[in-house]
Amino acid sequence: MNQIAKDVSLALFDRLESEVRSYVRSFPVLFDRGAGTTLTAADGQEYLDFFGGAGALNYGHNNPAFKQALLDYIQRDGIVHSLDLATTAKKAFIEAFERYILKPRGLTYKLQFTGPTGANAVEAALKLARQVTRRSNIVSFTGAYHGVSAGGLAATGNKEMRAAAGFPLANVTSLPFEGYLGDSFDTIDYLEKLLEDPASGLDTPAAVILEVVQGEGGINVASVKWLQRLRELTARRRILLILDDIQAGVGRTGTFFSFEASGIVPDIVTLSKSLSAYGTPMALVLIKPDLDVWTPAAHTGTFRGNNLAFVTARAALETYWADSKFENEIALKSGILAKELEAIAGEYPALGLGVRGRGLMYGLVSPTDHSLPARVSKEAFSRRLVLETAGSYGEVLKFMPALTIEEAELRRGLSVIRDSLRSVYEGAAAGQ
Ligand code: PMP
Repeated sequence: MNQIAKDVSLALFDRLESEVRSYVRSFPVLFDRGAGTTLTAADGQEYLDFFGGAGALNYGHNNPAFKQALLDYIQRDGIVHSLDLATTAKKAFIEAFERYILKPRGLTYKLQFTGPTGANAVEAALKLARQVTRRSNIVSFTGAYHGVSAGGLAATGNKEMRAAAGFPLANVTSLPFEGYLGDSFDTIDYLEKLLEDPASGLDTPAAVILEVVQGEGGINVASVKWLQRLRELTARRRILLILDDIQAGVGRTGTFFSFEASGIVPDIVTLSKSLSAYGTPMALVLIKPDLDVWTPAAHTGTFRGNNLAFVTARAALETYWADSKFENEIALKSGILAKELEAIAGEYPALGLGVRGRGLMYGLVSPTDHSLPARVSKEAFSRRLVLETAGSYGEVLKFMPALTIEEAELRRGLSVIRDSLRSVYEGAAAGQ
């Protein structure tokens, strides 16, 4: 008994890992195995995962559809590391990406493989936009999250993260996202006015960077109309549009790209997180061909060729994106998630809870009691459901289950949420 208790202790992390660690503080368990949407801790307890690696596990943990391809590749000594050398694994991925993603959508992007994290892709996108336009300013939006390296951080809203940079984050102007100032304030009109007025104080930007559904910012959804107007405005003024699809892409909002419903074509798209399909690092920048002004080796990185990621990414495209079956399944589960969350919100009129999202990326918003989501998340974790919070004040409970989740698991997780919210609500009422 003592031996087991010792083995699952997190004391080592407390003693030796930097204070910067975050998720482990909310979910203080020693995890060991993952399969689909189930996490198994070292003590044998099972957890249901509605956190989804913050968007990196859209196909669940260790999806069996890709596992064998990965094992076979390792078994036959397939190249693992290759910088940007040509490999068979990379070639097969590019072929699959063109066949299953680009061609059916009529897209003609060129592919830039960057270092393996989302921030690497964002840095490359910003750098390229500045090179192409020879302008330095970038417009980003309130609530945005684009990574914590210097360029992406300058375009990120979060005050604490910005403060950690230790130097002024320049060359980005943050403007209101759709709905930031209420429904009656038109934020595209505002942007247009600033661009048009020679005395507005806004330096004409190289690019506007945005997420269609702001993940960390609290599941703020840009409408189709707003996106279309933004595209029209940026195109008319020769400002590039960078679509950061690192979290909302790869099926999360119901289609491969989050912008598909709007019909817009961004100039540059960043992808990472679930692109590799197996939780392994990989990032990609999609560039309209006429904007590909890079000179050889102008932007590099040692880990641009994670071939293990190419193998599973290709397998995922073949398995899930060859036809519309997967998208239909996501739509079905999205309907269940939205309906159940609405029902849960409706059970507590006094809390004024709201529901927003798209696909399987949803938020339960607590507009008055901002600490409620964290308390519900904690209670849910004690019932072995993992889900995080988001938003400026942590006012959003964030639902990001694997897109491959079984309907029964989805309903089970939602019933844990219902019980957790009741317990937190009744506990608070009893404490008053
Ligand atoms: N952009 C978006 C929209 C993100 O959600 C994230 C990660 N949460 C990033 C960029 C940065 O990705 P990474 O953490 O892999 O650097």
